[in-house]
Amino acid sequence: MSNRAYNFNAGPAALPLEVLQQAQEQFVDFNGAGMSIMEMSHRSAAYEQVHNEAQALLRELFAIPDNYRVLFLQGGASTQFGMLPMNLLTAGRAAAYAISGNWANKAVKEAKLIGETIVAASSEGDGYRRTPALTDIIVPEHAAYVHITSNETIEGTQYQAFPDTGSVPLVADMSSDILSRPVDVSKFGVIYAGAQKNLGPSGVTLVIIREDLAAESPKSLPSMLRYDTHIKNNSLYNTPPSFAIYMVNLMLKWIRSSGGVDAIAQANQAKTALVYDTIDNSGGFYTGFALPVSRSRMNITFRIHNEELEKLFVKESEQQGFVGLKGHRDVGGLRASTYNAVPLESCQALAQFMADFQRRNG
Ligand SMILES: *Cc1c(COP(=O)(O)O)cnc(C)c1O
Repeated sequence: MSNRAYNFNAGPAALPLEVLQQAQEQFVDFNGAGMSIMEMSHRSAAYEQVHNEAQALLRELFAIPDNYRVLFLQGGASTQFGMLPMNLLTAGRAAAYAISGNWANKAVKEAKLIGETIVAASSEGDGYRRTPALTDIIVPEHAAYVHITSNETIEGTQYQAFPDTGSVPLVADMSSDILSRPVDVSKFGVIYAGAQKNLGPSGVTLVIIREDLAAESPKSLPSMLRYDTHIKNNSLYNTPPSFAIYMVNLMLKWIRSSGGVDAIAQANQAKTALVYDTIDNSGGFYTGFALPVSRSRMNITFRIHNEELEKLFVKESEQQGFVGLKGHRDVGGLRASTYNAVPLESCQALAQFMADFQRRNG
């Protein structure tokens, strides 16, 4: 299809063309049911198959151990910022947060409404151009959990390795890098992610939780805000976002047919290397925002020394079929989001465009 944009949107973001086409084929009549998946009962066998298969695919692709549960919730990662401490930050305890940028700050802000928080580490002194060094992360012995943001979508930084928090559960917001690389899930107590960057469309939020951690939620918590409600009901306590989960199912099959998470990680490495190399070989025309130790394989943030040129870059890129290259207003400059579904060809075209732009304006 020749009219597909070079889509570098930060979220919602690109989906594989094959996934969109498959959804299109099944849109009006799902597997001969005479109706779309959206029109079906969430208690029907046909829907439950899609739901359970999506869970099973996640377990397989992300190697999720048996003592973890996979939940499909609503409200986005932003709801998890509050729901997590509501369930885990129980009386008399504190939760530790590693502050790495914009999203980590949003997460801790919500936790403060629920209970006591501790700054486990912060990279604010480095202008959030890197994630906190693992050796700087304090793990208070009696902490309810330590929270990290594995990839800071706005600053374009990403943890290259994770802290060892011993018996204190490690919690990660992986909204912008879930399934982009292999992760040892057993090192985490909870992993959560909105789907709309790496997993599918907006409307569904993935939570992977170690079973025992859902056992001590305060009795006063409303049913919908309790992890144990969703565990007991297989994420079917109320009507789930069935169409979004169906899209996640297709996206997971696409990841599997692309060779799984290891192959996706290699592809992400190759895709981003094209753009980072262009930045590094530009003789200072382009400068990366993130420090090389923390460069993200999902969001590439960069600047041009002159703001007028940045505006021109965005304008010309749009004329040439690129979408989403303007940086977030908090950081400024330019950003290319290269999530799992962004094809290598888009990154090749971007590297080419960047080199041409420099030639004409350098
Ligand atoms: C996009 C994003 C969020 C917010 O997700 P919503 O689903 O919109 O609530 C949270 N954390 C990170 C790291 C993100 O990239």
